Amino acid sequence: MRHLTVRQQQLLYLLADGEFHSGEQIGQQLAISRAAISQQIKQLKPLGLDIYSVTGRGYRLAQPLELLDATQLAACGVDNVHCIAVIDSTNQYMMSRLGSWQQGECVLAECQTAGRGRRGRAWVSPFGGQVIMSLYWRLEQGMAAAMGLSLVVGIALAEALQQHGYEEIGLKWPNDLYGRGQKLAGILVEMAATAGGACQLVIGVGLNLAMPIQIADQIGQPWTSLTALGDRPVQRNRLTAELILRLRACLQQFEASGLAPFVERWNRLDIYRDQPVRLLLGEREITGIARGIDAQGALLLEQEGDVTPYIGGEISLRPMLT
Ligand code: ATP
Repeated sequence: MRHLTVRQQQLLYLLADGEFHSGEQIGQQLAISRAAISQQIKQLKPLGLDIYSVTGRGYRLAQPLELLDATQLAACGVDNVHCIAVIDSTNQYMMSRLGSWQQGECVLAECQTAGRGRRGRAWVSPFGGQVIMSLYWRLEQGMAAAMGLSLVVGIALAEALQQHGYEEIGLKWPNDLYGRGQKLAGILVEMAATAGGACQLVIGVGLNLAMPIQIADQIGQPWTSLTALGDRPVQRNRLTAELILRLRACLQQFEASGLAPFVERWNRLDIYRDQPVRLLLGEREITGIARGIDAQGALLLEQEGDVTPYIGGEISLRPMLT
């Protein structure tokens, strides 16, 4: 893990309002020289921060930044969270410390330097531009139930966002969030078995809020953000709190009742329901019509009138090429 220096944090708090701050003013407030300010700014930029410097006016962030704050989250009813500025990967951090977390405990970060997706793919997570979090969950039912749980995570997040006013949110099997056909959030569930048969899960979420424009070409597929989908700035702490509360509640419901209460909810959010799709299974590709999920969370694919369930972490779903 890499921490921001105290100076860098102070500088960020000053710039967070999105207004211009002159070199003179920053220098006075932080008791550092002009040269030191420019040095600190240089070190912050590679984290994905859009910082402008304009001669005669000073420095400003391209957009205001609401930093994550455990006190504000607690005021929204969320406990047991850790806010970290810069980290390689929140999932990596939690996975390497399994055994030290309580049920539902969360690690949040402003920025990941090595965020990851499925099968070693990279997840781009610039400073302050997302909700980046990992949540620990111990599942007594063991690994066999983990597939269902991963679908529940997508449902929880999508429903929380819909309740927040973002109505055009949908899910791509198994659990990616989409907005107007573009990727909005990724979910990565990693797990380890315990000797007693239970399963320890780290549920990672990266949700785009307001992303700096210069990272656009680092993402190899069409993507979107809540700022692009909505018509108002996102209240980051409030939204994060709602996502965590909904996630914890849905995971509890899943433990008590399994996937049954979620199947119809998932199918309602399914962006490919009744659409022609391709399934990528390693080297193999099959095509058919997507028919939602079954009670185990398997994707149902219809081919020539027969419906077959497909399940497993190695399967990727794609729209049919036109
Ligand atoms: P699959 O259907 O197999 O899950 P996927 O492309 O959605 O395929 P993931 O592992 O879920 O793969 O996510 C990683 C991919 O997401 C990256 O390869 C990249 O294309 C995309 N990506 C990376 N960062 C972002 C981001 N911040 N926002 C949207 N998409 C991103």
